[in-house]
Amino acid sequence: MSRSIEILDRLIAFPTVSRDSNLDLIRHVEGELGRLGVASRLIFNDEGSKANLFATIGPQDVPGIMLSGHTDVVPVDGQDWSSDPFRLERRDGRLHGRGAADMKGFVASVLAMAEQAVRAPLATPIHIALSYDEEIGCVGVRRLIDMLAGLGIRPRACIIGEPTGMQVVVAHKGKTGLRAHCHGLECHSSLAPQGLNAIHMATDLIAAIRRLQADLAAEGARDEDYEVAYSTIHVGTIRGGTALNIVPNSCTLDFEIRHLPADPVEPLLDRIAEKGRAIETAGRAVFPNAAIRLEPLSAYPAMSIDPDAEIVGFVKALTGGNSHGKISFGTEGGLFQRDLGVPTVVCGPGSIGEAHKPDEFVSEDQLAACDQFLAALLRQLTH
Ligand SMILES: [Zn+2]
Repeated sequence: MSRSIEILDRLIAFPTVSRDSNLDLIRHVEGELGRLGVASRLIFNDEGSKANLFATIGPQDVPGIMLSGHTDVVPVDGQDWSSDPFRLERRDGRLHGRGAADMKGFVASVLAMAEQAVRAPLATPIHIALSYDEEIGCVGVRRLIDMLAGLGIRPRACIIGEPTGMQVVVAHKGKTGLRAHCHGLECHSSLAPQGLNAIHMATDLIAAIRRLQADLAAEGARDEDYEVAYSTIHVGTIRGGTALNIVPNSCTLDFEIRHLPADPVEPLLDRIAEKGRAIETAGRAVFPNAAIRLEPLSAYPAMSIDPDAEIVGFVKALTGGNSHGKISFGTEGGLFQRDLGVPTVVCGPGSIGEAHKPDEFVSEDQLAACDQFLAALLRQLTH
């Protein structure tokens, strides 16, 4: 059994679902790195229940290559697994377990490589960055970035090991999630025009969102490298009303924008907010306190790096391939790029198509390919 599989076995056994603590896993990794003589910095959340980990192997005073992964996983509730999701199950060349693809496989491969790296005469250091709460909107890593910025640590480049089938990824869309609270006036439904129907306000806003989507699809930025070539907006949930004979005074809807790097999100938000104000103004003819309030839920920026950038060629050479791609799902890469100015690519084992599902897996071949990739990185960074 490869060292990375042994480590993955340990990592999967920590049930680091985003709503729960990741500290047992982080303490375990801190202990393993400590045994190798590598010191870890932990950056905690306010409650002290979760932490990021940052560690450097090699010279401490030179910018290094940062290998970044998140430690949290999505829940397994309601999913029909053939084996315990929090125990590594080896079956037909596949390594099953929650987080195997997204993204404990990569983290295991990095920690296996670390055991070699501490014995290598590194000219350029390797930084290991592990975060919490990625799955709920890249929340935890922001503190890690603040810490690095505060210490003046700016890695030369960052590789995020989200599952891309070990293909080098140079761009992904950004995402902004919002909640719209619509406030109307309740009344008996037999007197409906005397009230202000909050569900109707919400559906007017949805109509505006859908018009904006149609415009973006027809005239917005396009990039055929993406599975969906344009920016998208969709409403995910709507809640309102209590009974058929009451005009509802409240309706809440959640929607998200997933935008191409070439479509800045602010003008899109402005257009939706403007429509919200117009609906509000119309409603005030009936009810002076009519309101639509937009509450931000989560957001991360798009990521985009020039395919001709040095890091892209460097990482491609490590994979032995020469192609690059773009992905529809998000990563922490946009934040590293925007807030720390670090050239970033995404490249990791497994497939996003296998993530977040029952019987999630990373194949042994993919994990071995990642081991080889990191071994090649280590050779490149050695004197
Ligand atoms: Zn992930």
